[in-house]
Amino acid sequence: MKLTSGIKDLALTTNGNGASDPYHAVLLVDEDGLTLVDAGLPGMYEQIVQRVEAAGLDASQIKRILFTHQDLDHIGTLPQLLEHLPEAEIWAHRDEQPYLEGKLPHIKITPSRLESMPPQQREAAQRMLDALVPGRVTRVLEHGEKLPLQGGMIVLHTPGHTPGHISLYVPEEKLLIAGDALRVVDGELAGPAEAFTPDMKRALQSLEQLLELEIDRVFCYHGGMYEGNVHGALRQIMTRS
Ligand SMILES: [Zn+2]
Repeated sequence: MKLTSGIKDLALTTNGNGASDPYHAVLLVDEDGLTLVDAGLPGMYEQIVQRVEAAGLDASQIKRILFTHQDLDHIGTLPQLLEHLPEAEIWAHRDEQPYLEGKLPHIKITPSRLESMPPQQREAAQRMLDALVPGRVTRVLEHGEKLPLQGGMIVLHTPGHTPGHISLYVPEEKLLIAGDALRVVDGELAGPAEAFTPDMKRALQSLEQLLELEIDRVFCYHGGMYEGNVHGALRQIMTRS
């Protein structure tokens, strides 16, 4: 699906056990190549390639991978991406860098969580953790930074779900790519999933800055597109909690 002419929804799905909500990784198409924003769960690499090809593009032209944060469902295909795209840059926020480089333990994939996973899943998660080594992040992003993508995409630090979580704002489109800072649940904009958000208070505070931006559409990794009264919905999310 096209969000704009240069921004595509890859809508990755889990194979096997029936219908599931897609994981809305995004592909940015710019003159100098492709940028993947988040990369699905382990096992979704082939799907990423298929989706990119279905959009009439060449996956070997993925020049950079931008991670909104460290969670397994966002960086799960990292080992395969590194294998197939050894030249690709990895971009992430400064506060997420130590986790993506194995200098700090992954927040949600703890040893006990690893142990509780079925063997195949555990192996895939461990492989991903093993790929988190010093130097992994090739460009460290800062809050407010304007990226040379989509006519000047802005990095917004939106911590709480993880310390270095970022969302991306595309002023030209009045579009927010929220990552997991927001979700769409039953057609409504919602805050991040509490069970997976260690600092919910900070996550909600992170939303305040969005009221200063003109936003017509919010694209969430979980739930996809929200179009409507974004500021009104944000105020509700912040007061409800
Ligand atoms: Zn997620």
